[in-house]
Amino acid sequence: EGKTPLADRSPDELAAFLAAQKTAYDALQARGLKLDLTRGKPAPEQLDLSNALLTLPTSYKDADGVDVRNYGGLEGIREIREMFAELLWVEPSQIVAGGNASLVMMREVLTDLWLHGAVDGERPWGQEEKVTFICPVPGYDRHFTLLDWFGIDTVTVPMNADGPDMDEVERLAASDPSIKGIWIVPTYANPTGSVVTQEVAARLASMPTAAPDFKILWDNAYALHHLTQDEAKTADILGLCSAAGHPHRPIQFASTSKITFAGAGVAFLAASVENVGWYTKHLGAGAIGPDKVNQLRHVEFFGSADGVRQHMAKHRDILAPKFAAVLSVLEEKLGGLGVATWTDPTGGYFVSLDVVDGTAARVVQLAKDAGIALTPAGASFPGGNDPRDRNIRLAPSFPSLEAVRDTMEAVATCVLLAAAEHLSA
Ligand code: PMP
Repeated sequence: EGKTPLADRSPDELAAFLAAQKTAYDALQARGLKLDLTRGKPAPEQLDLSNALLTLPTSYKDADGVDVRNYGGLEGIREIREMFAELLWVEPSQIVAGGNASLVMMREVLTDLWLHGAVDGERPWGQEEKVTFICPVPGYDRHFTLLDWFGIDTVTVPMNADGPDMDEVERLAASDPSIKGIWIVPTYANPTGSVVTQEVAARLASMPTAAPDFKILWDNAYALHHLTQDEAKTADILGLCSAAGHPHRPIQFASTSKITFAGAGVAFLAASVENVGWYTKHLGAGAIGPDKVNQLRHVEFFGSADGVRQHMAKHRDILAPKFAAVLSVLEEKLGGLGVATWTDPTGGYFVSLDVVDGTAARVVQLAKDAGIALTPAGASFPGGNDPRDRNIRLAPSFPSLEAVRDTMEAVATCVLLAAAEHLSA
């Protein structure tokens, strides 16, 4: 018994297995747990790493002598732009430092495209009959929410370990002028942990597109968020696109949301110098300048780009054991049974779990009924619709290590019960 795949078991063996899982689930419910694995948020101990920010800055002049307390400087202060230009492998002239949320910058970019059009566009996107985005799935739910908010259509492509399925992406982008862009989380993707390879990035940069103003929204939220010593270096999308003759195609985003304070960090946009000018021009219609005090505070806190890297190693020390716990419980409880596959990320904030087709929603419901909150099944797909009903996003950063273990044991019980029910039906 033990590790025989469920699909290879006799009806009697399966019935016994189902009965055992029901018993295990009843025992789980009786424990009256209250656990939550839904949130890709830093844990309090991670936030504590940056508490020195609360007493900074000590100065109110930046390196250029600008009084950061006052209005102005839409593109952000020079030192923080230089620091993150180095970390993101772009030129300081190609980066803007803004407020606390890169997601807001993404919405601003889409709004500017919608109302005013791109630097390489023929008309505002809002004047097109239809606008469509390519969405690698599973992906980040808020990207899909943003598209939905604009009324932008979606077409999905599989997200593989090396990035989106490029044969599909190239076919779609070349054939349909309504297809205006693609979301990419290039490093440690949410939720798969995929890292876009240099080869995939080069294809994205050089592919012919039916729309002249096709945009790669390169959301590098986890650029520096390594979980192992095997530190991925994000492909240089700006350089690749420029070399391919499409300098205005990519717009990169990043932030310190999971470096310092998720609610009080600094967000960045990096793109061609023309795109940066385009962005700040439109930004200027509604802002006089960002929170430069917070930017200076971050500069003083980190000291240098290397200071950021060293700080990220402290996050890794807190996060890596939690991810290891997720993987070891999955392997121990589900390995060899043919009921689930999961990612083994080397960075980022998530583990992507695929259960038996048609059972993800059931697993999430079973977990809920046992006091365990999981991200809704389908959340990583546009419209919340996972056509195979199999994907569940696990976010182990916020709970304590002990709670992560307890939660994962419970999740495994739910996966097994749902699988046994499904195969017995
Ligand atoms: N992009 C991705 C892929 C994310 O996972 C997150 C955080 N969940 C964000 C963006 C949000 O970034 P910010 O806090 O800078 O708005």
